[in-house]
Amino acid sequence: MPCGTPNWYDAWREHYLHEPARFYTSAKDTPYLLPLQLYLIHSSNSSPHRSYATSTILDALCQLNEDFKPTGIRFYLYDSIRAIASDEWTNHEDILTGIRLMQKHQTPGVINCYIVRGAAGTCGYNIPYAGITLNHSCLGKGQHTWTHEIGHHLSLPHTFLGWEGKRYHPDSPTPKILLYDYTLFKDSLITDTVIYDTAEVELADGSNCRQAADGFCDTPPDYLSYRWECDDSARSTFALRDYLGQRFYADGSLYMSYAVDECQSRFSDEQTAFMWATIHHKRPYLLDHTPPTPQAIEEEPILLTPRGYTFLDEDDRITFRWSAVDHAEWYVVEVAINKSFSRLRHRVLTSDTSIALPISSSRKHWWRVTAFNRTHFCVRPTSPESFIPESASRTKEHSPMMKWWYAEGYLHIQNPTTQPLYLQLVTIHGKVLFETQDFIPHKTQRVKLPLMTPGLYIVKVCTTRRHGPCTSHRIFLN
Ligand SMILES: [Zn+2]
Repeated sequence: MPCGTPNWYDAWREHYLHEPARFYTSAKDTPYLLPLQLYLIHSSNSSPHRSYATSTILDALCQLNEDFKPTGIRFYLYDSIRAIASDEWTNHEDILTGIRLMQKHQTPGVINCYIVRGAAGTCGYNIPYAGITLNHSCLGKGQHTWTHEIGHHLSLPHTFLGWEGKRYHPDSPTPKILLYDYTLFKDSLITDTVIYDTAEVELADGSNCRQAADGFCDTPPDYLSYRWECDDSARSTFALRDYLGQRFYADGSLYMSYAVDECQSRFSDEQTAFMWATIHHKRPYLLDHTPPTPQAIEEEPILLTPRGYTFLDEDDRITFRWSAVDHAEWYVVEVAINKSFSRLRHRVLTSDTSIALPISSSRKHWWRVTAFNRTHFCVRPTSPESFIPESASRTKEHSPMMKWWYAEGYLHIQNPTTQPLYLQLVTIHGKVLFETQDFIPHKTQRVKLPLMTPGLYIVKVCTTRRHGPCTSHRIFLN
């Protein structure tokens, strides 16, 4: 199901449609900045930021503000993104479970949005008194689920109101009246009771647009309550027929339709005016906050350390440092063992410009940082920087496996073990200067080093030729 929301007339909409001019207000000149509180609901065996790609969430927030731009409504993060570990919630199968948990974790006076891995089989649902639950897989660039659900939160019904749970077929006669199905969307107030109410089916000539469906006359009739594909003009690929036999095409450009995301691009003027009125008259608390001044983030952080060969500290951690960026409030630090970041090791959110993270593998790693703030989400991560973690050896002169010393251009190596060992000399940037053949057990050898710039190098001693296990040692050559 694309969406779950109460699918009948509510008192406020009826009241408004009776005399829209009475409630007129506009965000055209002074935009409405509305606070969103975002929650990441994650399973107990995974961290919140490992569970959800921050880039997807930032892209989704960027898209949300992009979609709402023509309406003069903008959203900002009220507080930092909150994480809640709950196995019951992150993948819940019924909306009632979602509602119960949403009510337990609410911030008053804002639009509460909860991101989950499974939203009762929907892409998202809006509970007028509790907030919005969103399935993470329906979020991101070019996706409009969040826009649609906030449309609901600001009182907009579907353009096909009344057809929820019913399937229109062009070969079957179109009814004049539909019954709202109150059982389709069970919320905590209506559980077993079946209440039916009738809805007029909207005509193509617009003659009953005020009473029928969503009550807006600039949203044409739409009977399609399932995900549908559109043509190049965002219209349905087949003609629908109203009960008078008049043919028409459904308009998939509207966010409140169920057309696929690629078709959707707008709210109508009447929908927009109704959202403004809802903010002012039904949810005025959204305007009670002093909103932050929107500040764009125009530069990227510079990644300072680590780069190249990097020693782990005593607790097997590496400290990541980057430059502060103007107007940034948070940084997302991502560490992976591949350049595309699909094999992620860490994703953490911090307001600091450094963080120490445990590194458990000696493989090459990549890291990058994304800066954002509570109003600016259209950001990209930095280009990745790479590093190779090295276990620090506390005694410079001796390895547990091998003794070695440096004198007059020669490295003297003694292998006291009973197995062959391999040795590499590398720069602190990770460039291998040379590697030895195996060192025969119980033997001392000396190796002439190539002419090198004086400085710090790393000697790696490994038990197999390619992938360790190795120990690493710092050596200062002069
Ligand atoms: Zn919906």
